[in-house]
Amino acid sequence: MDYLLTDEQIMIRDMVEKFSREEIGPQARENQEKGIFPQDIVKKAGELGLMGVAYPPEYGGAGMDFMSYMLAIEQISRYCASTGVIVSAHSSLCVDPIFRFGTEEQKKKYLPDLCQGKKIGCLALTEPGAGSDAGATKTTAKLEGDHWVLNGTKQFTTNGNEAEVSVVIASTDPAQKTRGISAFIIEKGTPGFKVGKLEHKLGIKSTSTAEFILEDCKLGKENLLGEVNKGFKLSMVTLDGGRLGIASQALGIARASIDDSIKFAKEREQFDQPIANFQAIQWMIADMCTEYEASWLLTYRASLMKDKGLPYSKEAAMAKLKASEVASFCAAKAIQIHGGYGYTTEFDVERYLRDAKITEIYEGTSEIMRLVISANMLK
Ligand SMILES: Cc1cc2nc3c(=O)[nH]c(=O)nc-3n(C[C@H](O)[C@H](O)[C@H](O)COP(=O)(O)OP(=O)(O)OC[C@H]3O[C@@H](n4cnc5c(N)ncnc54)[C@H](O)[C@@H]3O)c2cc1C
Repeated sequence: MDYLLTDEQIMIRDMVEKFSREEIGPQARENQEKGIFPQDIVKKAGELGLMGVAYPPEYGGAGMDFMSYMLAIEQISRYCASTGVIVSAHSSLCVDPIFRFGTEEQKKKYLPDLCQGKKIGCLALTEPGAGSDAGATKTTAKLEGDHWVLNGTKQFTTNGNEAEVSVVIASTDPAQKTRGISAFIIEKGTPGFKVGKLEHKLGIKSTSTAEFILEDCKLGKENLLGEVNKGFKLSMVTLDGGRLGIASQALGIARASIDDSIKFAKEREQFDQPIANFQAIQWMIADMCTEYEASWLLTYRASLMKDKGLPYSKEAAMAKLKASEVASFCAAKAIQIHGGYGYTTEFDVERYLRDAKITEIYEGTSEIMRLVISANMLK
């Protein structure tokens, strides 16, 4: 579908594909087996501009558009979905809200190191009692004199163990519920702020998923991100962009499932011929490719709308809903095409299925995506 892309977008896509194939792919299996965070890859990605694709050079970014970012996340995730979400959570959930809602001082202070991959970022929104219902946040931030004091527990933060800059959501006026929520920037090492339990997961095993514990964590007024009590809106706007990052991650997993299946189907012989000769296999490949291209077009459309400054919440939800379910579909079919081999760790397709499942859950489950879409259609 190159005819839908500019020369510059094709160039970045192909550059990221080469980098991912040569540098990320060869490490992916071992890193996930051992649960190793790919620090060296993140450093190299930073040097290539991939930790701040869609942000201006004055803040250390690569100065490209959001479409280029979508293409980059897809290519990275094609070779390693863990690395894909490390880059996506960093960019969409930390760099983006600081760029969009930060003061000039905050942007100058945090963005250059984040966009160049010298520091890793994250967003801590979820809590034990506040998942899909993100407005039910119990972490509090109280203004005491010149300082904010935060108390509470955040859960499931991607990049939480490595992040040096965290955007943390807390309630500043519990009685006002979603109208009483604010966002804060917290640096690693701030007294009263520590990483707690790290989750053991089904997939994306090279990423950290961390608990944050805040105990009388004292922050200066300059750590407030955006306006006081406007943090829920900030989170929702941030998640709209984040969902396109996850849709792109899902596209990468679907594409890898297709590529591996085609290769295997041409090589594997049964009944004295390649299994690619059997119509049952051909139809699976046809369905996988059709679903992938439909998902790609939905993600492309929402990214284009974002680049044009149009409202794109519904379109982002549609792209994430479709692409995530298609990633699971394609990965499951890839295992079927690989037969018994697909069920073993000798091939990557079992990893694709484990990695695909989370795309249906984080940054809003498929049920919440359907809720966002229907709310837009029924208003
Ligand atoms: C690996 C991983 C990484 C993550 N990374 C981050 C991160 O970086 N930052 C962060 O803040 N969070 C992160 N999360 C949290 C993630 O976004 C939440 O897990 C997700 O939004 C769902 O919340 P929950 O787990 O509390 O499930 P629940 O909200 O408890 O949902 C349970 C089930 O109920 C359904 N449900 C809930 N409400 C409704 C409704 N109104 N209508 C219909 N069905 C409903 C859900 O769809 C789901 O099927 C991560 C989670 C994981 C597992």
